[in-house]
Parts: sequence; C-alpha cells; structure tokens
Amino acid sequence: MRYLIAGNGPAAVNAARAIRSLDAAGEIVMVSPEANEPYSRITVPEYMAGETDESGMLFAPGFYEDCGVQTRLGASVASLRPEEHTAVLSSGEEIKYDRLLLATGATPFVPDWADMSLRGMYTLWNKADAEQIRQSMAPGENAVIAGAGLVAFQAARALNAYGMKVTLVARRYIMSRQLDAHAAEMLKSTAESCGVRVLLHTSVSELHSEGGEVTGVTLTSGERIDTRCVLACMGTKPNLDMLTGLLDCEGGVDVDDYMRTALPDVYAAGDIVRAKMHGGGRGVRAIWPNAVAQGRTAGLNMAGCPTIWEGSRAMNSIKLFGLSFISAGATDAAEGETETLLSAKPNDYRKLITDGDGVLRGVMFAGAVREAGILAARVGEKPGGFRGSLPEAEPDIVRE
Ligand SMILES: Cc1cc2nc3c(=O)[nH]c(=O)nc-3n(C[C@H](O)[C@H](O)[C@H](O)COP(=O)(O)OP(=O)(O)OC[C@H]3O[C@@H](n4cnc5c(N)ncnc54)[C@H](O)[C@@H]3O)c2cc1C
Repeated sequence: MRYLIAGNGPAAVNAARAIRSLDAAGEIVMVSPEANEPYSRITVPEYMAGETDESGMLFAPGFYEDCGVQTRLGASVASLRPEEHTAVLSSGEEIKYDRLLLATGATPFVPDWADMSLRGMYTLWNKADAEQIRQSMAPGENAVIAGAGLVAFQAARALNAYGMKVTLVARRYIMSRQLDAHAAEMLKSTAESCGVRVLLHTSVSELHSEGGEVTGVTLTSGERIDTRCVLACMGTKPNLDMLTGLLDCEGGVDVDDYMRTALPDVYAAGDIVRAKMHGGGRGVRAIWPNAVAQGRTAGLNMAGCPTIWEGSRAMNSIKLFGLSFISAGATDAAEGETETLLSAKPNDYRKLITDGDGVLRGVMFAGAVREAGILAARVGEKPGGFRGSLPEAEPDIVRE
C-alpha cells in the first residue's frame, strides 16, 4: 500500500503517525515545497524576532526517519489524475498512490494595495517570510501591520518586543474569531500600554515606495506613516490549486465524516477542509488542534480503521503582551442563550454562555485563565453545577 501525503504540517504529520501505528509495512511518501523538518507556524513570529531559533520551531524532530517516511521536499503536488490514482508534482515527477491525503494548509491573502515584489512588503506565514522580514527590522524604526486577527497581533507583539514602533491598522474588529468585544478591548489597551498603536476603523489605502523599497503607507483616515516594513496579515486562502477542474472547493474542500473528499481514495485534513463542526454546521476551523485531530482521523481511515470525525472545535489559548486569553465555542450569546459573567474585573474577565437547556455553549476568559481549560473542554455538555468548579466565583452579572 502506498500512502501519498501532500504537506508536512501538523495535519500531515499526525496522519502519517496514525497510518504507521496501523500499517508498519506501507510506503508513506510526503511532499512539501518547504524543504525542512516539520515546524510550527505558531513560532514564526518568535523566529522573526530572534526569540527562538530553527530548532525551537520543530514540533517533531527526527520525524521522517522515526516514522519511516520518504520525502519529496522542495516540490508541491501540482495536479491530480484521480482516475489513475496519480499525483503530478511541480518537479514533473508523477507518483501513483493507493490513498492520498491533502494537508496543504493555507496561503496569506494579499490585498490589492500590496506590491509583494517590493522590499519591505511582507506577509507573515512561514519561515521564509520571517527571514525576509528580519532584514528590514531595526529597533526604533516604524512597522505597520495591516490586519487585526491572531497573526496580526502575534506579529505586533514580536516586533514590539524587538523594539520597533508598531502601528496596527484594523478595519473593524479585533480578533473577532477568538474574542468578544470586552476581551478585544482588554487586548487593545494592553497592547497600547506596551507601546503599540492600534488604529481602528481605518485601513491602508496606498503603499509608497522608492527604488524598489517600501517607504510608507497612507491610511484611509488620511494619515501617512513612514516605514520600511509593512506586513499584510489579512487572512488566508486554502492551498487547493491541485483540485482545479476536479472539485468545486471555493473556501475549503468538503470532507465527509471519515475525512474523505468526493474523489476516490483522496482524503483531506487541516486548514484546507470544510468539515462537520462540533455543535452543528460545517465550516473551516483553521487552528492547530483541529489540524492535529483531523490529520489523525484521516490517517486512521486511510489505513483501514473506520474512525468518525467528531467535529471541529473553536478553541483558542493565546498569550499576547503578557495577557492570557482562552476561548472555546461561542464568544457571544445567540438568541435564547444566557451570558453569565463570573468576573468582569480589570485583568480578570470570565464569561460563560449557556443555552436554554443549560448546555455550555461558550467560554471566554481573559487575564485570569485558571480553570478555563476544564470548562473549555466541556463546551457542548450540560455540566450541572459548573459554577461549583469555580468555588470562589459568584456570577457578577447574568445577561439573558
Ligand atoms: C504566525 C501564525 C501564528 C499562528 N498561531 C496560532 C495559534 O496561536 N493557535 C492555533 O491554533 N493556530 C495558530 N496558527 C494556525 C496554525 O498554524 C494552522 O492552523 C496549522 O498550521 C494548520 O496545519 P495544516 O497542517 O493544515 O497546514 P500547515 O501547517 O500550513 O502545513 C501545510 C503544509 O503543506 C505544504 N504545502 C502547501 N501547498 C502544497 C502542495 N501543493 N503540495 C504539497 N505540500 C504543500 C506547506 O508548505 C506546508 O508545509 C498560526 C499560524 C500562523 C501563520
């Protein structure tokens, strides 16, 4: 049996491990344009700022050898001939497979105003980006970050720690996928107290350059900022070019409960998939824990052990500018749900969301995150007396 895996991120690695746990003799071939051992994207901002080195980024050192994986690094899966069970690589090589896993992750979205050929204009997604950005970094100089999501704030934290004067330009909400409005305000004021300018309700309207180098930006507010370093952190799109003409997969490839795509013997996992979600519905949940769990589920199924995907979870645990945030499930109550504020003190914000049946629908903690993990793991359950697990916490306010 030959298993072909496109990608070498957490979804790919955990699929390979699951396959190997069931099939000691099968051939596993892994393809990735990134010619390195599997590393964590989460550490890319730290690597950029010199807070960690390459070895500190690896999440599975020695993996290829330990797992008995053959590699084709420096090449990508360019197209498929599904009826022949064949993948064509960017190198021209054709590889036949019995089972194929697509775990190709995502690529940053590039806004219209950004000219990526200019020195000083960057996205922040992989090791190569971090190495390029480092060349324009100098303590005391200005940096502009366009975007207000998790990657934008991680970049802001790292550049700020490096000593740059960071301006973060946010069109609308701050980290709306992970935080509610109150926690977002806590993050904003904490970032500002560390010296980051956070500008809301504006965006970059023009990029200025001279001699092939970025010199500044103008914002829709009219403000001009001189800088040699501009980062666009404005979301991503899934790497699914190899499915062009084969499947309609705008925004993500659909998988069934066994992580199978609609193509024969082709599975998918991680940031590229639109899968069943915990609590109902289908969607893309592009976070590390889902990539790990989906990769494992896909791998077990590929190796012949039917395993049902339980559903992607919304769960985030982040520390930014010294402030911890943990959220899981919903961050705001929907109609008919109740928000219970266990605490709304400065640096200690704890909110639970329950539905009419007492089922825990969401957890939003910021600052004091003790016990948050226990509650986050119980989203979707009816944890009778959940307040009992927080003995000191009497609800401050209950909003229906
Ligand atoms: C700066 C940053 C910070 C983040 N912080 C967090 C965080 O705090 N918490 C969290 O949960 N998540 C975080 N994430 C997101 C998390 O890293 C991703 O959800 C996770 O890496 C997805 O895993 P994956 O295996 O699906 O894809 P990836 O890790 O992106 O791996 C995909 C692999 O496929 C390769 N590839 C691409 N195209 C092809 C092709 N055509 N053929 C073969 N290989 C291909 C890529 O080179 C890559 O090696 C962060 C991401 C970034 C960039």
